[in-house]
Amino acid sequence: MKISEKQLAQVNDRIKALVTAGSFYGKKLEEAGITSVANAEEFEKLPFSEKADLRDAYPLGLMTAPEEEIVRIHSSSGTTGLPVIIPYTAKDVDDWGEMFKRCYETAGITNQDRIHITPGYGLWTAGIGFQNGCEKLGAMAIPMGPGNTEKQLQMMMDLKSTVLCSTSSYALLLAEEIERRGIRDKIHLKKGVIGSERWGKAMRERIQGILGIELYDIYGLTEIYGPGIGINCPDSEYMHIWDDYVYLEIIDPQTGENLPDGEWGEIVITTLVKEGAPLIRYRTHDLSRIIPGECACGRTYPRIDIIKGRTDDMMKIKGVNVFPAQIEEVIAKCEGASSEYQIRISHFEGRDTMRLYVEAVDGSVDFEDLGKRIARKTKAAIGFTPIVKIVENGLLPRSEKKSKRVIDERYQ
Ligand code: ZN
Repeated sequence: MKISEKQLAQVNDRIKALVTAGSFYGKKLEEAGITSVANAEEFEKLPFSEKADLRDAYPLGLMTAPEEEIVRIHSSSGTTGLPVIIPYTAKDVDDWGEMFKRCYETAGITNQDRIHITPGYGLWTAGIGFQNGCEKLGAMAIPMGPGNTEKQLQMMMDLKSTVLCSTSSYALLLAEEIERRGIRDKIHLKKGVIGSERWGKAMRERIQGILGIELYDIYGLTEIYGPGIGINCPDSEYMHIWDDYVYLEIIDPQTGENLPDGEWGEIVITTLVKEGAPLIRYRTHDLSRIIPGECACGRTYPRIDIIKGRTDDMMKIKGVNVFPAQIEEVIAKCEGASSEYQIRISHFEGRDTMRLYVEAVDGSVDFEDLGKRIARKTKAAIGFTPIVKIVENGLLPRSEKKSKRVIDERYQ
């Protein structure tokens, strides 16, 4: 996949806006002597933008439109250091809503639906993004926000919510609670739109198994509008990306070189029409690949695979690069194991040790046999044998936000 003539013209327009505004990236481009790009090769040589740069621009250094046109800011959670502030113009907010509406439509959601929104509202982009798209679609928004499972389930029953928007871990928590209380027949959910964290096949099947709903993966990040820049369609698990708003590349995270379609690497995104804070070649650190060929649904928007993890999830254990997704694939293939697991890495007497805690689906499972099978298959996948401990279902922590799967005790 190469950048089109139209997209190139849009990039040049954004470069011009950045330089004219003299904003953080405008100055950087000017210093590098870049005023435009003539072709795909030149585009692929443009410097990347990084989250660290965005922090340097705190608080409003990214602002590229005149202040009177900025109608809102959003901020990404700053787990380390300063947060990132992204200014939006009215057009940016509207464009984002259009993209989100397209996501809902792609999932077959209509203005007859009642959309139960559990992601948080506030500085970050989650809840309000789901809300904007819902209102544009003309569906009924039920703006719950996170937490208070009791009230969530009550509203879900009383208002007959048909669509659940949430993180995968919260969808699992709600599904398990619905099962435990035996209230599935009082729940009217038909679809789930799940975003903001990586999730595996086993977790998807567990949620689907309990609720019997169609699940859709939505993609996006605060730096680039928020959730809603792409979603999978009913014909495929791969996500269509709205390339009239954003241009997506896959690069080798080590070398920064563009990779051919089909190869796994880091997602890099350029905003094509954003005014408040345009970004050129922003490194997301999300791992995926471009899916070549056409989708059975007939949509021509390019597709990417389900996010496999983050470049910074990579764990170096005993000198081997390991991704949580590899462990997840092993567990998904072992009968008797549930979707929930936890990895603990420690360092003792000069050696790394990896302990893997996995939940059994129920009490009928032979824990010892399951542990041995997982240990054997993990060695085949990553090259060394972890210490595996099988625990009872429900013992590992569930979260209303993102589940913490990896605990590295080596550097604490
Ligand atoms: Zn499709």
